[in-house]
Amino acid sequence: MHLWETYHTPNTVEDAISLLTSYAGGARIIAGGTDLLIDLQYGEPTHRRQPLGALIDVTRISEMTRIEARDGWLVVGAAVTHTAVVQSALLEQAATCLVESCGVVGGPQVRNVGTLGGNVAHALPAGDGTTSLVALDAQADVARGDGRREWLPMTALFRGPGISAVDSKRDVLVAFRFKPRAEREGSAFKRIMRPQGVALPILGCAVWVRLDDRHEYYEDARICMGPVGPVPVRATTVEQALIGQRVGEGTLARAVAVAYETIEPRTSKYRATAEYRSYMVETLLRRALPLAVERARTGVAHAEGVGLG
Ligand SMILES: Cc1cc2nc3c(=O)[nH]c(=O)nc-3n(C[C@H](O)[C@H](O)[C@H](O)COP(=O)(O)OP(=O)(O)OC[C@H]3O[C@@H](n4cnc5c(N)ncnc54)[C@H](O)[C@@H]3O)c2cc1C
Repeated sequence: MHLWETYHTPNTVEDAISLLTSYAGGARIIAGGTDLLIDLQYGEPTHRRQPLGALIDVTRISEMTRIEARDGWLVVGAAVTHTAVVQSALLEQAATCLVESCGVVGGPQVRNVGTLGGNVAHALPAGDGTTSLVALDAQADVARGDGRREWLPMTALFRGPGISAVDSKRDVLVAFRFKPRAEREGSAFKRIMRPQGVALPILGCAVWVRLDDRHEYYEDARICMGPVGPVPVRATTVEQALIGQRVGEGTLARAVAVAYETIEPRTSKYRATAEYRSYMVETLLRRALPLAVERARTGVAHAEGVGLG
């Protein structure tokens, strides 16, 4: 059985929106297709599956495939692939955690076609790119079917597991923007994965920190762990345990204790029990936080653990 009738490749966001509108909910955005094609093929029993009127491919829209510095922001198009993120020297220096998270998505084939926008629009609380974008306090440029175009905070994009506030039958996620790393700032991403696993982590953790002038205290911190709930969220209790405190084992241990008290991961029958995930919270914080601090202190950021592709 075929899964769609027509395949369009518009060159502008406006054309993509017009096409979606013309199908009145019968068409859907596609980027790399690594999530969507599996959903279309296996999402519903065969007897209930209707072919879509059209797929609207956004990977030829130039404003959606660029990585650029603009007006004090770093702007990453939603159709930028994980491989392109990994290969960007600009992003490695300015948003190291994002490069580290895109660098561990799937294998090379998935990273070569899978996009950052698809990772976010799929709306899973464990999406690796999503976890880092939340820690970077990113905003998303959303073009709506009714003609509106708006920048929204990342956390406004999620309604539940797999349920996005961007309706890919009507809206287009165009780009993400965030502030590039400044002096005394650093970020890192680490995750725990099943050894044989290629899709979605047991737990991922992205950390961003800013230190004070003397590099002795946490001036600011942002942490996102996923999945620890139905939607991606900041670990604000852990952030508060860091801000204003001296960098070192004492503060790290207190932050871990707060994390144990306040972060409640769920059991997943495919990945891990809640108890195991809970233990891994400490492991990840102890790996990611000191690395982000070191990057903030030295200004040197070489992404770790990224795959080839
Ligand atoms: C073998 C395998 C391993 C994987 N491993 C990982 C992993 O380790 N970590 C991880 O996080 N993910 C993983 N994934 C999931 C997936 O590859 C990523 O989430 C990827 O980023 C999805 O991007 P895509 O471009 O392929 O999205 P698509 O499949 O094209 O789209 C996904 C959804 O988003 C919508 N959409 C896409 N782009 C837009 C847009 N610009 N505007 C509006 N809606 C849009 C589509 O309509 C669809 O609903 C894996 C997948 C596979 C098949």
